[in-house]
Amino acid sequence: MSYQLIQQPDADANVICPCCQQAIIDWSQEQYIQPCEHTLFVALDLGFEYIADVFEATMARSVDEIHAHDDQLNMFQELTTASFPHYLIIRTDLGVQDLSRYIGIAVPESN
Ligand SMILES: [Zn+2]
Repeated sequence: MSYQLIQQPDADANVICPCCQQAIIDWSQEQYIQPCEHTLFVALDLGFEYIADVFEATMARSVDEIHAHDDQLNMFQELTTASFPHYLIIRTDLGVQDLSRYIGIAVPESN
């Protein structure tokens, strides 16, 4: 398994990159998505809010393909079947209709 899943229980809290401590989700900003150099994606069950080219290149389907067929979208599956070597997924519960936000972060190979 190339990814590690972390559940962040508080959906209203900022999401901090463990590598550089930048707030990737910063609720004090109007543009609350602030990707850092380690950010691979910010996605909801319904679609992508941000994706890095390096991660999209490792996914089984492109973002365009995924959005074109979003009636059969399983976002978590799309994100976890990518061949990107080592990454972290921080999942937060949106508190509506069992929806989640997923934030992908590239982590160094050894730790
Ligand atoms: Zn970072």
